[in-house]
Amino acid sequence: MNEELTLFRDNVRKFIAAEITPHEEQWAERQYVDRDLWHKAGAAGLLCTDVAEEYGGAGGTFAHEAVILEEQAYAGNTAWAKGVHEIVTHYIVGCATPEQKKRWLPKLASGEMVGAIAMTEPGTGSDLQAVRTRAERDGDSYLINGSKTFISNGHHCGLLIIVCKTDLSAGAKGISLIAAENPTELPGYKRGRLLHKIGQKGQDTAELFFENLRVPAENLLGGREGQGFYQLMNQLPRERLIIGVGAIAAAEAAMHHTLDYVRQRKAFGKTLLEFQNTRFKLAERQTELTIGRVFIDHCIQKLLDGKLDAATASMAKWWGTQKQCEIVDECLQFFGGFGYMTEYPIARMYQDARVQKIYGGTNEIMKELIARSLE
Ligand SMILES: Cc1cc2nc3c(=O)[nH]c(=O)nc-3n(C[C@H](O)[C@H](O)[C@H](O)COP(=O)(O)OP(=O)(O)OC[C@H]3O[C@@H](n4cnc5c(N)ncnc54)[C@H](O)[C@@H]3O)c2cc1C
Repeated sequence: MNEELTLFRDNVRKFIAAEITPHEEQWAERQYVDRDLWHKAGAAGLLCTDVAEEYGGAGGTFAHEAVILEEQAYAGNTAWAKGVHEIVTHYIVGCATPEQKKRWLPKLASGEMVGAIAMTEPGTGSDLQAVRTRAERDGDSYLINGSKTFISNGHHCGLLIIVCKTDLSAGAKGISLIAAENPTELPGYKRGRLLHKIGQKGQDTAELFFENLRVPAENLLGGREGQGFYQLMNQLPRERLIIGVGAIAAAEAAMHHTLDYVRQRKAFGKTLLEFQNTRFKLAERQTELTIGRVFIDHCIQKLLDGKLDAATASMAKWWGTQKQCEIVDECLQFFGGFGYMTEYPIARMYQDARVQKIYGGTNEIMKELIARSLE
């Protein structure tokens, strides 16, 4: 943090209080945010904060992105899948040709386009090499056939990166990333249901179907077939840190709500905070949170220095989300029955936390990646 980031944090907090918090309930009921939120965020300079100004970004760093992720977590906002949008943005920054960057980045920065990435299929998630979505060259286009599921921003997306096979016999080397621009306008594209989830209810999560979906060949990311797996591997550490940053901040928020509650709630003539069980449990959780904060800040600094490796990012993702789930669960217990009522933020935090151990690569896969670095 520095003075500029502190000022930026104030602006982000005000934006969330004005444009997000009042609508959360409505968004959770219908399972997607207002499309206009993206335009407003673009106008407020909150999209693509770490993208160069020549491409419409704000010319900042990942520290700006981390501030937004933290403020979203402190406000209990999980409906706005901005993290996914920024992950897509960085596929463009890191892998696209100069022409593709010019074509897409300014629209991602203004909110004219919402980003989504479609890796997971009904038949495969963790085992990415087993994707079956097929892209075949047909003149100046690719014809794409297959289906994807659990796609965040699948409802609103204007730029959808599709993970597909351009060569069925080449294993990882047969995977390519192809971007579909304004997919709902393309023949052969079908959006399925919005999926009902345990938590993160305001965030749209969709099934997508491609039946001879025709995409211009110039939308092949980076312009060369067979690069997809390596492009994915290069971007995943950043993606995993994004989840870790949100996880630690959400656990901090749970602690904050809990301390407010146990200081005023009384039982047997004392506040809950006067019971030794409360004091010791919260002392333990505060210790973990302090360790988590130091570690996550270390990872952010590593990313800023261009030195975040896959194993360390995997630690941030699995350990951060594991601690988030444990801390939120234990905090909820101090609220008694009120902790089970969704009008209490701690109840929604509990619902929202669970998926963090699943998406972005499951925590088991994270441990595999760390273990591989030990071989
Ligand atoms: C709310 C939500 C949003 C999502 N958003 C997106 C998105 O935007 N884009 C996208 O592409 N995907 C998205 N996903 C999908 C998500 O990334 C996958 O669900 C996840 O990667 C796991 O894949 P799977 O569900 O197929 O589980 P599987 O791969 O079938 O795994 C099932 C279980 O087996 C375990 N397992 C698998 N392989 C191993 C192994 N080698 N060793 C040990 N254990 C193993 C897993 O850890 C897990 O516990 C989202 C999912 C959810 C729930």
